[in-house]
Amino acid sequence: MSRTAIATIHLDALRHNLQRIRALASGSRLMAVVKADGYGHGLERVARAFAAADAFGVASIADGQRLRAAGIAHRIVVLAGIDEQGDLAEVRRLGLDIVVHHRAQVEMLAGDRDRRPLRVWLKLDTGMHRLGLPSAECASVLSQLRALPQVDAEIVLMSHLSSSDEYGAAKTPLQLARFEEMAATQSALPRSIANSAAIVGYPESRLQWVRAGGLLYGLSVVAGKAAAEFGFRAAMSLSSKLIAINRIGRGEFVGYGESWQCPEDMNIGVVAMGYGDGYPRHAPSGTEVLLNGRTAAVVGRVSMDLMTIDLRGHPDARINDRVLLWGPDLPVERLAAAAGTISYELTCGVTRRVMFLEADAGFSA
Ligand SMILES: *Cc1c(COP(=O)(O)O)cnc(C)c1O
Repeated sequence: MSRTAIATIHLDALRHNLQRIRALASGSRLMAVVKADGYGHGLERVARAFAAADAFGVASIADGQRLRAAGIAHRIVVLAGIDEQGDLAEVRRLGLDIVVHHRAQVEMLAGDRDRRPLRVWLKLDTGMHRLGLPSAECASVLSQLRALPQVDAEIVLMSHLSSSDEYGAAKTPLQLARFEEMAATQSALPRSIANSAAIVGYPESRLQWVRAGGLLYGLSVVAGKAAAEFGFRAAMSLSSKLIAINRIGRGEFVGYGESWQCPEDMNIGVVAMGYGDGYPRHAPSGTEVLLNGRTAAVVGRVSMDLMTIDLRGHPDARINDRVLLWGPDLPVERLAAAAGTISYELTCGVTRRVMFLEADAGFSA
């Protein structure tokens, strides 16, 4: 049986996007954030495409294992750090950097019998209130870390922004000011707070290290703006095939739950794509797909393996025609908005039964 659902990863777009961030933040080092399997694009694949990055950011030690196994020699930063002291042996074996965001992690380091220095990023909470030390603990934890032989002298101070995708919101300037205040007495230490949206929208946040995720994949990182507006290119196309064309009579309902009724006798196309592939079940009737480069609308409920589209206006449609669900010519953000989610969740959610292919138009940056 042929594989019909295909996620095509555009390697040239990945490289282009990295160069674009380099150009924007030319005074900063660049951490390419590749957590969640490279935002769904494939961890090892994107790491190779991002070879020009200065470091990779991952969510777990397991991702570090995969990258080292793939021959990636870059700095790799485990963004949540260690969970237990036993993790440190593997961190050392793999040569990973760790984030320290909690006192308990300092104790684990202090108790480590292996005293060779590890590279540490100290995470401060400036208002996100997820991971990070409160400002009251910052100075004491820092001096504790400094006294440990297990910690390399060049600790990177970091924090994370909660609202950088809403330009004009008061929260980001507030967090930037708090970060500056907390780091004020540590002018020798490198700093990092900018995620994708801040790299574009808050140049003063770039500092010594930027940490880019979404923009590297060409995803929109600012509410209401496509990444293309900032010169970034979509790195994933999701497509499948039309596997049936059926003539359905006026007044008949299409799909589960009778959610959509044919207003006239018409052709309905059946596409081999559903929530089992990662296409959101919440995409309502009217959501756009591209059939042979032209718009067609989803009708009825998206099911596990299949979805149905309105073929009025597509008299030339044939079985096996390819249907694009998202890609450079159909921003994934449009589907995300229709389905009540964000683009990140959609690219992360493409499932294992979808075949991943790589496309590369060469080094046309
Ligand atoms: C995911 C993540 C990033 C990247 O965020 P984007 O908005 O995708 O650029 C940066 N820093 C940390 C700590 C993260 O968890």
